[in-house]
Amino acid sequence: MSDPAANAPARTPLGSARRVVVKVGSALLVDATTGRLNRTWLETLVEDVVRLRRAGREVILVSSGAIALGRRHLGLPKGALRLDESQAAAAVGQIRLAHAYKEMLEEREIPVAQVLLTLEDSEQRRRYLNARATLSELLARGAVPVINENDTVATAEIRYGDNDRLAARVAQMVSADCLVLLSDIDGLYTADPNRNPAAEFIPVVHAITAEIEAMGSGSASDVGRGGMVTKIAAAKIAVAAGCHMCISAGAHLHPVRRIEQGARCTWFVPTDTPVAARKQWISGTLKPAGALVIDDGALRALESGKSLLPAGVTRLAGRFDRGDTVSVVTQAGREVARGISAYSDADAARIIGRRTAEIEGILGFRGRDELIHRDDLVLQ
Ligand code: GLU
Repeated sequence: MSDPAANAPARTPLGSARRVVVKVGSALLVDATTGRLNRTWLETLVEDVVRLRRAGREVILVSSGAIALGRRHLGLPKGALRLDESQAAAAVGQIRLAHAYKEMLEEREIPVAQVLLTLEDSEQRRRYLNARATLSELLARGAVPVINENDTVATAEIRYGDNDRLAARVAQMVSADCLVLLSDIDGLYTADPNRNPAAEFIPVVHAITAEIEAMGSGSASDVGRGGMVTKIAAAKIAVAAGCHMCISAGAHLHPVRRIEQGARCTWFVPTDTPVAARKQWISGTLKPAGALVIDDGALRALESGKSLLPAGVTRLAGRFDRGDTVSVVTQAGREVARGISAYSDADAARIIGRRTAEIEGILGFRGRDELIHRDDLVLQ
């Protein structure tokens, strides 16, 4: 069948991007029946990446597939795996995956680097900045980083669990201008098109409204772990970072070239004025360490751009240290902001509801006046 997008060059955000993150889903990389790597397809993806590199673009691959690829070698059954089984499968699959990328990219004279990240690497600011520095160095030296979650060591509570949001955090980390999610579906529909034939395709999303979020719920792929919900969560992180994101059907050969040529996909367009990098990082936190429940007065103060003082906090939850990101929620449980706590949960518990002037007397040291300073706070 001839591909209508095969020749026509199109103006897409990918065409003008300087730094691109491409996320490859497990369902594309690994054949569902045989459990083997789709080598022919992968060669064409690698050719697309090489072409982008030669055109002066920087490319990062976020590749799933370790678990899907490893399970066959350990004789694991089809269907859901226990955590320890999937960690073992990932250990076996990741080495094969990395090997395939290494062979294919180095054959084309592009150095390849494996980077395995855990959730803490994006949630703890120091580690985030460190990972960012490493990735920048790799890109500056012409390498293509191939990233996956470090599944073998990540336990249930501290894992991304899906590479959609991981890829978005990476795109934000490296200030990419374009994030491509290669998926088993060609984009966003008003409902799940597999179940609802009346579902309509949405080519462009300018704002991720509650309505858009509702469209994503309920669909999931069989092989990978992400569904439309995690893709929309990824889009939120990407657009806030000033990065275009597209969801595209990746199963075709040369899946990235097709997008450049205008194949059908859904584009999420970034907001005009990207928020400052530090605030992006705060608002994109995937797992806030705790929560501060605030009163109405504090809510009004936050909405008018003020800091969060201990006096306005009525309760707190979770275990956090000074410097961790926490959610700020109303009495009704609605998350209204996120920010970096200036106090640990233990210290915060002693000063909430109290006036700033009392802090030193209670804690025995003079900390910050604010529980979350406005520079460290982002309204959600
Ligand atoms: N990190 C997982 C793997 O490599 C995939 C997660 C996902 O499917 O998004 O198998």
